[in-house]
Amino acid sequence: MELGLAKTRLNHMTEASCIFCKIVSGDIAADKIAETANTLAFRDIAPLSKVHLLVVPKKHYKDVVELTESSPAVLGELMSQATKLAQEHTNGSFKLQFNTGSEAGQTIFHAHAHVLSDNSKDGS
Ligand code: AMP
Ligand code: ZN
Repeated sequence: MELGLAKTRLNHMTEASCIFCKIVSGDIAADKIAETANTLAFRDIAPLSKVHLLVVPKKHYKDVVELTESSPAVLGELMSQATKLAQEHTNGSFKLQFNTGSEAGQTIFHAHAHVLSDNSKDGS
């Protein structure tokens, strides 16, 4: 019981094998573009559109459901940051996407918002 509680707490802080936790800690390099107190944004390594940004909570939550249930304030901060960056990097037309569960295409189990658009701000 004690151990289970400790593990749950650890999961919300960082996960040793999680790529996005390693990007947050600086152990893995990424093309970082912005950060807030509780979020980090960087470019997707395999962009699916002209603009493809990822916005992640600095703490580890396995998906947007866990993030919403555990830390609605951090979810709000992440949404504010994602929409702010979308406005800055696109002409205002964009998709905001949270893949949730492997059958929905989630491959990294650290909550993240995709900001996707082929309408980049400068038209490039
Ligand atoms: P998802 O499929 O929703 O879990 O999204 C994970 C995303 O992370 C994919 O679009 C990957 O291209 C992206 N990704 C994986 N590794 C890295 C990395 N080291 N730096 C930036 N993006 C990554
Ligand atoms: Zn993580």
